[in-house]
Amino acid sequence: MSWQSTFTFISLYFPNYLGDRELRYLSVADVYEKIENTTKRLEMTDYLVELFKKTPKDLIDKVVYLTQGKLYPDFMGIEIGMAEKLAIKAVARAAGRNAREIEADLRRTGDLGETAQKFLEKKLQLTFFRQPLTVERVYQTLDKIARASGSGSIDQKVALLSGILSDAEPKEAKYIIRTVTGKLRLGVADMTVLDALAIAYGGGKDARPILERAYNVSSDLGLVARIVAEKGLDALKDFRVSVGKPVRPMLAERLSSPQEILEKLGGRCIAEYKYDGERIQAHKNGDEVLLFSRRLENITSQFPDAVELIREHIKPRSAIIEAECVSVDLDTGELRPFQELMHRRRKYDIREAIEEYPVSLFVFDVLYVDGRDLTLEPYPIRHKVLEEIIDVTDRVQIAKYLITDDPEEMEKFFEEAIENGCEGLVCKSLNEDSIYQAGSRGWLWIKYKRDYKSEMTDAVDLTVVGAFHGRGKRAGTYGALLLAAYNPDEDIFETVCKCGSGFTDEDLKRIPEIMEPHKIPHRHARVKSKMEADVWFEPVVVLEVIGAEITLSPIHTCGMDKIRKGSGLAIRFPRFTGRYRLDKSAEDSTTVKEIIEMYRSQLKKVEG
Ligand code: AMP
Repeated sequence: MSWQSTFTFISLYFPNYLGDRELRYLSVADVYEKIENTTKRLEMTDYLVELFKKTPKDLIDKVVYLTQGKLYPDFMGIEIGMAEKLAIKAVARAAGRNAREIEADLRRTGDLGETAQKFLEKKLQLTFFRQPLTVERVYQTLDKIARASGSGSIDQKVALLSGILSDAEPKEAKYIIRTVTGKLRLGVADMTVLDALAIAYGGGKDARPILERAYNVSSDLGLVARIVAEKGLDALKDFRVSVGKPVRPMLAERLSSPQEILEKLGGRCIAEYKYDGERIQAHKNGDEVLLFSRRLENITSQFPDAVELIREHIKPRSAIIEAECVSVDLDTGELRPFQELMHRRRKYDIREAIEEYPVSLFVFDVLYVDGRDLTLEPYPIRHKVLEEIIDVTDRVQIAKYLITDDPEEMEKFFEEAIENGCEGLVCKSLNEDSIYQAGSRGWLWIKYKRDYKSEMTDAVDLTVVGAFHGRGKRAGTYGALLLAAYNPDEDIFETVCKCGSGFTDEDLKRIPEIMEPHKIPHRHARVKSKMEADVWFEPVVVLEVIGAEITLSPIHTCGMDKIRKGSGLAIRFPRFTGRYRLDKSAEDSTTVKEIIEMYRSQLKKVEG
C-alpha cells in the first residue's frame, strides 16, 4: 500500500488522525480565529508560535504564505484572486443550495466567508462522512485555482473550490473563501511572522535580526521560515542575496538644508541627482534579465528596452543593480517629466509606447556581482564597483554626483539638478558603516527636495542666441536651441533655457534655414552666457516658449544674483509652442525683469 493510500485508509476509519507529516487545516483556521479576535501584537505572535510549532517543517513555508493570504512571495506575481461570483457558485454547490440564496445572505453579511460558514453549518447536520482537510490539500487546490487559465478554467475553478468546501468544517470554509477571494486580511505584519519564527525556531526573539536580514535580502518569508525550521538559525547567518530574489529596497530620510545634511553625514558626502522616474532593481544572469519595481513587483515585461540596455551595458555575467528609469528625449538627451513615464505603465501596445516614450537608466547602486554579495560593503566600495561594471552610453549612466563638504556647492548642484528635470538630490554617507540597508529607511541616505511646487502659467517670447547639434533622428539639424531674455538696462541678452522640445519635423527643417543668415563664429558680444553652444547667432529671431516652472539655476545668466548670489533663473522643461514671433524684434522679447517677477509670483502663489 502506498503512503497516500495508507493515509486515506487510516483517515477513513480514524478521521482525526493525520500522522506527523500532515497538518489539519482546522488547526490553522483555529489560529486565524484567535488572531482575528485580538488587536495585541504580542498575543498574535503567541498564536503564531503555537501554530508554527505544530506545523511539519516541510509545510512551514506554505503555512506562512497562507497566513498572509498568499501562495507565494509577492514578487512571483501569482495571485489567487477568484472572482466573488465564482466563489458564490462553489459555495452553493458545496452547500446544496442555489446561488441566489447565497447572494441574498451575502447582502446581509457583506462577507462571503461568513455566509459560507453559515450554509455549511446547516448542511453539516445532514453529512455523515467527510475527509478531513489537510493544509497540503487546501494549498494545492488553491494553487490549481490560481494557475487555471484558458477555456474551461471557470468551471474548473468552481469545481476545485466546491470540492474542498464539501469536505470543509464550516470554520475552515470561512477562511478558505476569504483566502480565495483575496479577503483574508488577518493583519499579520511581516515583522510579526519573523518574531514568531524567531521564538519557535531561532531560540528566542533575540534571533529576529538574523531572520530579518535574510528576509530583507530575499523578500521571501516562506523561504526564511523553511530554512530556520529545517536547518536552524546558523544556516541563516550567512544568508546572501541571490539573483532572481528581489532585495527589499533601502530608503532615504529627508532634511531641508545642505548644512543639516552635511552635519548628519559627518561633514562630507556624495550628493547624487535624484532622478524623477521609476526605481528599478535589475537582476542579470547571463542573457536573462528580471526587473523589479520599488514594491518588488516583476515589471520585466513593461520595459523590454531597459532589459536590453541592462543586457548590453552591464558587463558582468551576473549582477544586481539599482537604477532610476527615466523618460528621455533621445534626440537631445533631455530628461522628460515623470508623467511621461506613466505612459509606460501599460500591459498592451508596449512596442508603440517604447517608441514614443523611450527611457534611460541612471544607475545608483550595485548589490551583487558574480557571486559577490556587496550589500554589506560601504558605499565608496560599491560605487567603485559600479564604475567598473557599467559600459556607459547615453542611455545607461551612473547617477550624476558630486563629492562635497561645502553647503554652497551642494546648493548649486541641487539647483542644477532641478533645472535638469530632477527632483533634487539624494545625499549619501561615505563612512565605513555605509552599507546597503535592505528594507529600511535610515540616515545613510538623505533626500533633499524642494518644499514648494510651482507652475508656469504664461508663455514667454525668447531670443535664439545659440544652438546645439542634434543626434539620432535630429542628426544634421539642431537638437536644442539656447534661448535668452532681454535685459534693457544693460542692453544684453541673458540665457534662460536650452529648449529641445515642441519642434515638429517641419520646424526642425525650417529653423536652420531661418537661422543661417544670423550665424556667427563666436558668442555675440551682447549675449551673456555660461554655456558653450555649438553654434552662435546674432540675437534676432524670437520664438514663443512655455515651461513647467521657473527655477533657480547656477548655469543660466538670466537675473544672475538677483534672487540668490551665484544663481540665475531658468525655465524647467521648456517647450516651443509652435509660434515664430517674426513680428517681434529681439528687443521686444520677454525681459529679465519679467522673468524675475514670474519667479516671485510663482512662489507667492504657493505661500499664499
Ligand atoms: P522617495 O521616493 O522620495 O523616498 O525618494 C527615494 C527614491 O528616489 C528612490 O526610491 C529612487 O526611486 C529615487 N532616486 C532617484 N535618484 C536616486 C539616487 N541617485 N539614489 C537613490 N535613489 C534615487
